[in-house]
Amino acid sequence: MSSSQRVPLIAGNWKMHGSLDQSARLVSALKDGVAGADYAQMLLCPPFAYLMAVAEWVKGSNLVLGAQNLSHQLEPGAYTGEVHGAMLKDVGCSFVIVGHSERRALFGETDELVARKFQAGQAVGLTPILCVGETLEQRQAGDTKSIVVGQIMAVLDVVGVTAFDGAVIAYEPVWAIGTGRTATPHQAQKVHELIRATVGEQDATIAERLLILYGGSVVGDNARELLSMDDIDGGLVGGASLKAEEFVAIFQAASG
Ligand code: PEP
Repeated sequence: MSSSQRVPLIAGNWKMHGSLDQSARLVSALKDGVAGADYAQMLLCPPFAYLMAVAEWVKGSNLVLGAQNLSHQLEPGAYTGEVHGAMLKDVGCSFVIVGHSERRALFGETDELVARKFQAGQAVGLTPILCVGETLEQRQAGDTKSIVVGQIMAVLDVVGVTAFDGAVIAYEPVWAIGTGRTATPHQAQKVHELIRATVGEQDATIAERLLILYGGSVVGDNARELLSMDDIDGGLVGGASLKAEEFVAIFQAASG
């Protein structure tokens, strides 16, 4: 993390885990763990069902709330099972994850749909966290650059570069998610640099302000080294965000 303009963001993606009780205990421990710390921001992205409860619990703390997904529909309507961005905003979310690799792989989300979700989030004042990343096969075939740039351009072409002002991109190599296999700080930095340069080709100021998170088996022990890289501005953390001590350790690694 090199620019002092960028405040690190440490985001927890709970995925479809936990219960109301476990969530309450987790949030309480996280609040204690990060109380008074202002060198970074901690974001919690619980399952939809717990958003309202978590919103209450984080009131008055320095924790912020986000959702893991949203509907691409710009208008509310007869879309059973979908959640509109305005509803997320209503219950206290300020961020929304779009294009997580699990959504792309398991729920068939295309680049086009991801772009529409990015737009739908932004239209209601949510900050989208756009996830990009290559599979192991793609990396081994030497296609990391074209995959990552392609995923970003698919959104940039639809929303325009100004939509990236204040937005967040998360680089999450698919082979590192939930596998215990982390990209080396050098591997991650190379892709983060590429991401900033891709946005920078269209607007250097927006690129400089852009927060680029790394995600993929981040834990307390590897966070400091990853976060020390120039273009790594935070983490998107899955498994380790469900363990208060571990997640607080990752957060503290952002203190520099
Ligand atoms: C994720 O869910 O986005 C993620 C990176 O998971 P994990 O930290 O468990 O690899």
